[in-house]
Amino acid sequence: MRYADFHIAECPICTNEIIDKDAHFCKICGTFLENRCTDESCKKIADNNARYCTLCGSKTLYYQEHLLKDWQEEKMETEERVRRQERSQELQLDQDFGSEFPPDTEIPF
Ligand SMILES: [Zn+2]
Ligand SMILES: [Zn+2]
Repeated sequence: MRYADFHIAECPICTNEIIDKDAHFCKICGTFLENRCTDESCKKIADNNARYCTLCGSKTLYYQEHLLKDWQEEKMETEERVRRQERSQELQLDQDFGSEFPPDTEIPF
């Protein structure tokens, strides 16, 4: 499966919602807005959905600050969402089938 690409839509500290795409820090409170390795000697910039540094295996900043869920949790939620989507698509198909036979009153003559 593919894990969601996490994007900070609002500052986790001050809830400022105006964040430039390429901003590294929140312009209101100065919080670091980029995911990176928490190991002081590594500090490698990590993917936004990375829980662990791919270089040294330390936790990433987002994961440590609980901005990212445990991968087990996200996997479960994603699978549940897919299941729900499949179910609503089945319902949609039922409705489409029904609309092929409009009631007599809708025929214009
Ligand atoms: Zn902020
Ligand atoms: Zn690292």
